[in-house]
Amino acid sequence: MKKKKISIIVPCYNEEEAIPIFLREINKVIKRMSDVNFELIFIDDGSVDNTFSVMEKRAKKDKKIKYLQFSRNFGKEAAMLAGMQYSTGDYVTIMDVDLQDPPHLIIDMYRFITEEHYDCVATKRINRKGESFLRNLFTNLFYKMIKKMSKIEMVKNARDYRMMTRQVVNAILQVKEYNRYSKGLFSFVGFKTKWIEYEDVKRSKGHTKWSFLTLFSYAIEGITSYSTLPLLFSAFMGLFFCLMAFILIIVVIVKTLIFGDPVSGWPSLVCIILFISGIQLFCIGIVGEYLSKTYLEAKRRPLYFIKDTNIKKTK
Ligand code: UDP
Ligand code: MG
Repeated sequence: MKKKKISIIVPCYNEEEAIPIFLREINKVIKRMSDVNFELIFIDDGSVDNTFSVMEKRAKKDKKIKYLQFSRNFGKEAAMLAGMQYSTGDYVTIMDVDLQDPPHLIIDMYRFITEEHYDCVATKRINRKGESFLRNLFTNLFYKMIKKMSKIEMVKNARDYRMMTRQVVNAILQVKEYNRYSKGLFSFVGFKTKWIEYEDVKRSKGHTKWSFLTLFSYAIEGITSYSTLPLLFSAFMGLFFCLMAFILIIVVIVKTLIFGDPVSGWPSLVCIILFISGIQLFCIGIVGEYLSKTYLEAKRRPLYFIKDTNIKKTK
């Protein structure tokens, strides 16, 4: 029987120090899985350090190492997409280069897929040690909101670290949207998924590229990509205030007819105008957020540009 092949996709952004450590660890796993072929696809997502030359040097020595260099930083989502598009394996794994995704789990993942016939094995972290209270609070809030607002299931603390069959990868590649939000995409395509958990691991080298602000905008992106409920919310707000105004008009008319009230209440009027215009701007903002998504989708811009690679594109 022909040996099966696993493609490992590794997005890298300024990871010159992490790559050698990653290779050392992943090679240990590869050695243990002698019944499978491997290909390692490193994506240099526009790094400004020596990430690319490290990849290139390693690829010269090791045939299974492939690389893709982006023309600039396009983000991890684009890197994962490129990796999947260029991958040739029967199974595809996505993992970080910083060893926060324990390589030995690949062995379990492969077993679940081949022996227990799962289509996909995904991972989540159990604890989030060392993260601030505020960050935790917002994370919890985000997952609660998205659960209520969208039909798509987003698993809390889910990582991008996963193994998929070729069938699942092809399904994901069929989704041609510009605003790619993988956490949602993976669950959007469906298929039988096994979740495995692991303890949070510290980064090997370098530092995280996520700040509170980037995480926050990532959360907004997640919500607007998978739910149109905020639009409905603005419509309901409009309806609610119309109703309020209508009731108030009747109250004022009746009051004037009975008591002949002279004009008064200027300060309260200003407050109301401010309040309502605030709500209006907020709702326009929501509409704008969706409009900007549509705008970017309509442009159909490529998601990345390749500057250098040692692979031929198959799809
Ligand atoms: N990464 C990338 N492009 C980016 C940011 C990050 O390819 O613009 C890669 C990074 O090199 C790493 C992975 O994505 O391999 C996860 O990044 P990071 O460790 O910063 O995220 P965290 O683990 O803190 O969620
Ligand atoms: Mg990391």
